Amino acid sequence: MTINELTYPALEAHLQRVFGVPFVLPFGDGSTLGAALALLGITGLFANLTEILAGVALGSIRGLSLGPVVFVREGLDPQTRAEVLVHEITHSAQVADRGVLTYVREYVGQSERRAAYEAGACVAAAELHHALTAQLPDPVVQVAHGYLLPDAAISFGVALGEQAEVAIAAGVRTQPVSREAIAWLRARDGESER
Ligand SMILES: [Zn+2]
Repeated sequence: MTINELTYPALEAHLQRVFGVPFVLPFGDGSTLGAALALLGITGLFANLTEILAGVALGSIRGLSLGPVVFVREGLDPQTRAEVLVHEITHSAQVADRGVLTYVREYVGQSERRAAYEAGACVAAAELHHALTAQLPDPVVQVAHGYLLPDAAISFGVALGEQAEVAIAAGVRTQPVSREAIAWLRARDGESER
């Protein structure tokens, strides 16, 4: 099971359809993303926007989601791009599940919730990574990337990732977006073998 330049766009379109994500927008540097955020009129939501854009410029941020709008960095190889996409669409699904107002309140105001949401998205990406490579990403959960989390919440997120490692390594898939992506890739492989 692999993801190449031909597979990626079809997988992206499929996940967009299933999870109700109308826009997956590419971004190159902070200025593109900043302009897109300004266009959407939502820059005011981010107290740490400057930090986010700095992370984008440095290349440490590869994806971002704002409810049903997902941004993915340009120039990633197809597999990495798919893993970033699964991570970000997992956030979109979390927003849809909680309702946008509840999610924003939790995301902004409750650092352990935010760490748990990040852990869920990281686990989704790790499940896809494992399905494709039989390897676990190291670390499974990376929660320190520019989210202004206190140390206790970061430790909590990392612990959630460590708990998930055994299950992921055993092939147990718990996250809806990675489950959908893996099922789609399997079906596609089955078709091409016939
Ligand atoms: Zn995330």
